[in-house]
Amino acid sequence: MRVTDGRYPYNIARCRHIKVNGTQCGSPALRNLCLCYFHHLSQRTNTELNANLARRGSPGSISLPILEDANSIQFALMQVMRLLLTGEIEHKTAALLLYTLQTASHNLSRTEFNPPSAGGRHRPLRRSRHQPRR
Ligand SMILES: [Zn+2]
Repeated sequence: MRVTDGRYPYNIARCRHIKVNGTQCGSPALRNLCLCYFHHLSQRTNTELNANLARRGSPGSISLPILEDANSIQFALMQVMRLLLTGEIEHKTAALLLYTLQTASHNLSRTEFNPPSAGGRHRPLRRSRHQPRR
Protein backbone atom coordinates (compact mmCIF):
# COMPACT_ATOMS: atom_id res chain seq x y z
CA MET A 1 0.00 0.00 0.00
CA ARG A 2 1.40 3.40 -0.99
CA VAL A 3 1.51 6.21 1.55
CA THR A 4 1.44 10.01 1.16
CA ASP A 5 3.75 11.26 3.89
CA GLY A 6 4.58 8.10 5.69
CA ARG A 7 1.42 7.99 7.77
CA TYR A 8 -1.67 7.31 5.70
CA PRO A 9 -2.55 5.63 2.41
CA TYR A 10 -3.35 7.92 -0.55
CA ASN A 11 -7.04 7.08 -0.44
CA ILE A 12 -7.41 8.66 3.02
CA ALA A 13 -7.89 12.43 2.65
CA ARG A 14 -5.66 14.66 4.73
CA CYS A 15 -7.07 17.51 6.85
CA ARG A 16 -6.96 20.80 4.92
CA HIS A 17 -6.25 22.98 7.95
CA ILE A 18 -3.15 25.12 7.47
CA LYS A 19 -1.28 25.95 10.66
CA VAL A 20 0.09 29.39 11.50
CA ASN A 21 3.55 28.33 10.28
CA GLY A 22 2.12 27.42 6.87
CA THR A 23 2.26 23.63 7.23
CA GLN A 24 -0.76 21.45 6.63
CA CYS A 25 -2.31 19.40 9.43
CA GLY A 26 -1.12 15.82 9.17
CA SER A 27 -4.22 14.12 10.51
CA PRO A 28 -6.66 12.16 8.38
CA ALA A 29 -9.84 14.07 7.48
CA LEU A 30 -13.17 12.82 8.75
CA ARG A 31 -15.20 10.83 6.24
CA ASN A 32 -16.94 13.17 3.75
CA LEU A 33 -15.36 16.24 5.40
CA CYS A 34 -12.21 18.21 4.66
CA LEU A 35 -11.02 18.57 8.28
CA CYS A 36 -9.78 16.16 10.94
CA TYR A 37 -11.75 15.60 14.11
CA PHE A 38 -9.86 18.25 16.10
CA HIS A 39 -10.07 21.00 13.48
CA HIS A 40 -13.68 20.16 12.64
CA LEU A 41 -14.52 20.48 16.34
CA SER A 42 -12.67 23.81 16.52
CA GLN A 43 -14.52 25.12 13.48
CA ARG A 44 -17.86 24.00 14.90
CA THR A 45 -17.06 25.72 18.22
CA ASN A 46 -16.36 28.99 16.40
CA THR A 47 -19.59 28.66 14.42
CA GLU A 48 -21.62 28.04 17.59
CA LEU A 49 -19.89 30.94 19.37
CA ASN A 50 -20.74 33.34 16.56
CA ALA A 51 -24.33 32.06 16.36
CA ASN A 52 -24.73 32.76 20.10
CA LEU A 53 -23.24 36.25 19.66
CA ALA A 54 -25.58 36.98 16.75
CA ARG A 55 -28.59 35.80 18.79
CA ARG A 56 -27.62 38.30 21.50
CA GLY A 57 -27.39 41.05 18.89
CA SER A 58 -23.63 41.41 19.04
CA PRO A 59 -22.17 42.91 15.87
CA GLY A 60 -19.26 41.20 14.12
CA SER A 61 -17.85 37.77 14.67
CA ILE A 62 -15.04 36.16 16.63
CA SER A 63 -12.55 33.66 15.32
CA LEU A 64 -10.98 31.86 18.24
CA PRO A 65 -7.41 30.91 17.40
CA ILE A 66 -6.47 27.27 17.72
CA LEU A 67 -3.65 27.15 20.27
CA GLU A 68 -2.04 24.02 18.85
CA ASP A 69 1.63 24.98 18.91
CA ALA A 70 4.06 27.72 19.97
CA ASN A 71 3.60 29.52 16.64
CA SER A 72 -0.15 29.82 17.08
CA ILE A 73 0.25 31.07 20.66
CA GLN A 74 2.75 33.65 19.44
CA PHE A 75 0.31 34.71 16.74
CA ALA A 76 -2.52 34.99 19.29
CA LEU A 77 -0.28 37.19 21.47
CA MET A 78 0.23 39.50 18.50
CA GLN A 79 -3.54 39.64 17.96
CA VAL A 80 -4.12 40.65 21.60
CA MET A 81 -1.40 43.32 21.27
CA ARG A 82 -3.03 44.66 18.11
CA LEU A 83 -6.48 44.75 19.73
CA LEU A 84 -5.04 46.58 22.75
CA LEU A 85 -3.16 49.14 20.68
CA THR A 86 -6.15 49.84 18.45
CA GLY A 87 -8.49 50.18 21.43
CA GLU A 88 -10.70 47.33 20.27
CA ILE A 89 -10.39 45.48 23.56
CA GLU A 90 -10.56 46.53 27.22
CA HIS A 91 -7.47 46.19 29.42
CA LYS A 92 -9.24 43.78 31.76
CA THR A 93 -10.27 41.50 28.89
CA ALA A 94 -6.75 41.68 27.46
CA ALA A 95 -5.29 40.71 30.84
CA LEU A 96 -7.53 37.63 30.96
CA LEU A 97 -6.59 36.68 27.40
CA LEU A 98 -2.89 37.08 28.15
CA TYR A 99 -3.30 34.87 31.22
CA THR A 100 -5.03 32.28 29.03
CA LEU A 101 -2.18 32.42 26.53
CA GLN A 102 0.35 32.07 29.36
CA THR A 103 -1.49 28.95 30.51
CA ALA A 104 -1.54 27.61 26.93
CA SER A 105 2.18 28.26 26.62
CA HIS A 106 2.82 26.42 29.89
CA ASN A 107 0.74 23.45 28.71
CA LEU A 108 2.51 23.14 25.35
CA SER A 109 4.97 20.52 26.54
CA ARG A 110 2.11 18.32 27.77
CA THR A 111 -0.12 18.48 24.70
CA GLU A 112 0.10 16.78 21.34
CA PHE A 113 -2.20 17.73 18.49
CA ASN A 114 -0.41 15.84 15.74
CA PRO A 115 -1.36 12.24 15.08
CA PRO A 116 1.12 9.75 16.46
CA SER A 117 3.44 8.15 13.96
CA ALA A 118 5.43 5.01 14.34
CA GLY A 119 9.07 5.59 15.15
CA GLY A 120 8.65 8.93 16.88
CA ARG A 121 7.10 12.35 16.75
CA HIS A 122 6.87 14.08 13.34
CA ARG A 123 9.15 11.47 11.79
CA PRO A 124 8.06 10.06 8.46
CA LEU A 125 7.97 6.29 8.17
CA ARG A 126 9.57 6.28 4.74
CA ARG A 127 13.04 7.56 4.08
CA SER A 128 13.51 10.12 1.31
CA ARG A 129 15.64 9.01 -1.63
CA HIS A 130 18.04 11.84 -0.83
CA GLN A 131 18.41 11.01 2.82
CA PRO A 132 21.56 9.03 3.61
CA ARG A 133 21.20 5.71 5.41
CA ARG A 134 22.39 5.62 9.00
ZN1 LIG B 1 -6.53 18.87 11.21
